[in-house]
Amino acid sequence: MENLNNNFDVIVVGAGTGGSIAARFAAEKGLKVCLIDRKEKKDIGNKICGDAVGNEIFDFLKIKHPKGDELSCKIKGAKLYSPDLKKCIDLTDPKQAGYIVNRIEYGQRLLNEALDAGVEQFIDNTMALDLLYTQKTVSGVKVKRKNGEKVDLRSNILIDASGFYSPLRKNIKSTLIEKEILKEDSILCYREIVKFSPQDLNITNPDYISIILNRDKAPGGYIWYFPKNESSLNIGLGTFMNLKGKVKNLYHQNVFNKFIKTSKYEIISSGGGVVPVRRPLWSCAADGIMFVGDSACQVNPLHGGGIDPSMRAGFYAAKTAVAAFEKEDFSIKALWNYNYSVMTSFGAEFASLDLLRMTLQVLTNEELNFALKQDLFSGEEILEISSTGEFELPILSMVSKAFKGITKPNLLLDLNYLRIRMNEISKLYKNFPMDINNFDEWKNRAIQIYDKIKKMLINTKKGKEL
Ligand SMILES: Cc1cc2nc3c(=O)[nH]c(=O)nc-3n(C[C@H](O)[C@H](O)[C@H](O)COP(=O)(O)OP(=O)(O)OC[C@H]3O[C@@H](n4cnc5c(N)ncnc54)[C@H](O)[C@@H]3O)c2cc1C
Repeated sequence: MENLNNNFDVIVVGAGTGGSIAARFAAEKGLKVCLIDRKEKKDIGNKICGDAVGNEIFDFLKIKHPKGDELSCKIKGAKLYSPDLKKCIDLTDPKQAGYIVNRIEYGQRLLNEALDAGVEQFIDNTMALDLLYTQKTVSGVKVKRKNGEKVDLRSNILIDASGFYSPLRKNIKSTLIEKEILKEDSILCYREIVKFSPQDLNITNPDYISIILNRDKAPGGYIWYFPKNESSLNIGLGTFMNLKGKVKNLYHQNVFNKFIKTSKYEIISSGGGVVPVRRPLWSCAADGIMFVGDSACQVNPLHGGGIDPSMRAGFYAAKTAVAAFEKEDFSIKALWNYNYSVMTSFGAEFASLDLLRMTLQVLTNEELNFALKQDLFSGEEILEISSTGEFELPILSMVSKAFKGITKPNLLLDLNYLRIRMNEISKLYKNFPMDINNFDEWKNRAIQIYDKIKKMLINTKKGKEL
């Protein structure tokens, strides 16, 4: 085993989508970067995933769009189905178009580009165990190598991109960071990639990903059905965490047996995983450390897409690290700009979508059928909400919806109340304090908005029980 250097400007833990981008952009700016992953190099990128990523992130980062082996197929948009499958809403917008990637090829590309950008040391087969501290500031990480040897690696800045189960977030001493993610704020997923002979595969909409809302069949989440290439599908479902142990059965019963009508198929890959579906951590940084991607709950709460935001956050973290080195200050004050970048961009959208997610999770199939059939949310509105977290309904449209919702006035009232709160929280996030001293006040205001929606949901639930 080669000798390790022990001192770096930046250590990035996790070479997934978030970590590889953070390492790449920090190294490109001349910082001495170490990148660590517990996997063997050749397995980096091999993750259970729906593999869908929009095209915007590649233009944002000015990096190559997926092509060649990395690209499974291109998609034009999404189709959202009501539980009874009678209503389908087209979510087609050039901004929502994108790719289904070959996850391992894609991961290998991001990793190799980080290494080419000048990452000083890449260490695979190495598990981050715990944080190292100098007084109250994170100053490195304790790792365990493949041979069992434990090593202390020192850094000025640590970037944790080790995913949902991050051991580092759980061990952090700072009170700014939430150590545990509530079960109700996560979704359990199971998916399979299934290959057919071309004559047996009859995809109705090969250019679209399909999403089916169904509270009985996929409680708390949704069923998906993504084209992979001309002969394969990526199909799966997400559910509440309390269905642990049952999710595979639910998948077979409600997804596979329902949609696969041939006996000639091959399961290429199968497995499950957990996705956080809430707003990002209140603070994604503390003294000497920034959290990126799943480890910071930076996942779209509505559809569970985390590739784009993890890459975006990796970029913001690298940029903040470079600025911190210019000032030679690695305290939370110097890293606060990372929070500002996250919260005022996709954080605002995700906080708003988090409120929508919480509300959708308590709607019954009957209500979902009704809301989609009556166009209480149109395709344009859903696209507007999912890309900005805000939506403005012209007054005439509100009045016409009021008539449509007349048989379910409470539902319409709830949706209208939700709309107001979503806009409110999105605006609050866009005004995230640049000064850490104003953070507590900002956080209290955000909590108040959350409390209002929680109260609405409790009252709605009580109303249904009466
Ligand atoms: C079933 C499923 C379907 C999904 N579908 C989609 C989709 O279609 N589109 C989309 O955008 N998102 C999807 N997501 C979410 C997406 O996969 C994640 O949000 C995204 O990969 C997050 O990237 P990350 O870099 O934060 O973490 P990860 O990609 O999880 O990378 C973390 C890395 O850290 C390493 N690591 C972990 N612990 C340690 C440790 N202690 N020490 C060292 N290394 C460590 C891991 O080996 C891994 O390489 C899906 C998720 C699931 C579970």
